[in-house]
Amino acid sequence: MSHIETFYEVMRRQGITRRSFMKYCSLTAAALGLSPAYVPQIANAMENKPRTPVLWLHGLECTCCSESFIRSAHPLVKDVVLSMLSLDYDDTLMAAAGHQAEAALEDTIQKYKGEYILAVEGNPPLNEDGMFCIIGGKPFVDQLKHAAKHAKAIIAWGSCASWGCVQAARPNPTQATPIHKVITDKPIIKVPGCPPIAEVMTGVITYM
Ligand code: SF4
Repeated sequence: MSHIETFYEVMRRQGITRRSFMKYCSLTAAALGLSPAYVPQIANAMENKPRTPVLWLHGLECTCCSESFIRSAHPLVKDVVLSMLSLDYDDTLMAAAGHQAEAALEDTIQKYKGEYILAVEGNPPLNEDGMFCIIGGKPFVDQLKHAAKHAKAIIAWGSCASWGCVQAARPNPTQATPIHKVITDKPIIKVPGCPPIAEVMTGVITYM
């Protein structure tokens, strides 16, 4: 596997100052309910551990989990996490589209096999072979299973991914299904809420 930069290296490269970085560590500790004594540990981990690559997929959803995330109350948190995430794959946030985006997804999977976190917003509809949600000409459920195969762990963002939400309400014509019922062999971190609290989302990514 190729060298992965540390979170701190990425932040510095994105123009974030040391002072802002330390402020970010303090805010993250507070958001996670940790005492200020943990701030140096968070800083140390971010300075020395390789950045965790993140793939962010979108199934049946309204994109407001993403909206919540990028509108994190503190602009610094938003800038920091956004700059870390947009390096990998998020078909909503990234500049690439179409075949270019599909290639970026495959490249990331191959480059970081077994190392990346798969963040999923929304859920796959299973009825009619998944035809109710098509990504790049294929059912989303296929993309989800493919990306999950080599993921270290999965984050189920929001109520859609965690338990189904509105689209899974009876009679659930598309058979919208939460992530844990489709992917059963990986650790899944559920972050429910519609949308989840932005600071909780950034805190989970940073913690991991
Ligand atoms: S959990 Fe709620 S906010 Fe998030 S994508 Fe689903 S409907 Fe939208």
